Amino acid sequence: METVSVESKQREELVEITRQVKMAVRNLQIRNGSIIVYVPHTTAGVVINESADPSVGKDIVNFLGKMVPQNSNYLHAEGNSDAHIKASLLGNSQIIPVSEGEILLGTWQGIFFAEFDGPRSRKVLVGES
Ligand code: ZN
Repeated sequence: METVSVESKQREELVEITRQVKMAVRNLQIRNGSIIVYVPHTTAGVVINESADPSVGKDIVNFLGKMVPQNSNYLHAEGNSDAHIKASLLGNSQIIPVSEGEILLGTWQGIFFAEFDGPRSRKVLVGES
C-alpha cells in the first residue's frame, strides 16, 4: 500500500489526486491488473470525473449541497451529518484498471479526493486490487 497525503483547504471541495495516484502505481511497480484507491475517512470520498474543466467539480459539490443541507433534523450530535451523507453518496473507493504500468483513465477523467468536512489533513490509500 502507498499513502497519498491530502491537505484540503475548504470545508467542501474536490482535490485532484491523479498525479499522486500515478506515482503510487509506479512505486508499487504494478504493470497489469487493477488498483484500489481507498479513502479511510467517514466524511470524505473519492470520485472519478472530468478534470479538464474545474467547474465540473464545483458543480458536483454545489449540487450535493442542495441535495443534502448542512442543517436538518439530524440525530448525529457532531454537526457534520451532511458530510457523512455526501461521503456515503460518492463512496470511499474506486477500482481502476492498470495496463503496462499506466492507469486506464479516459481522456477527460481525473481522480478526485472529495472533502466534505475540511479543511483537514487526510490520507488516501492506493494498493493492488
Ligand atoms: Zn460526524
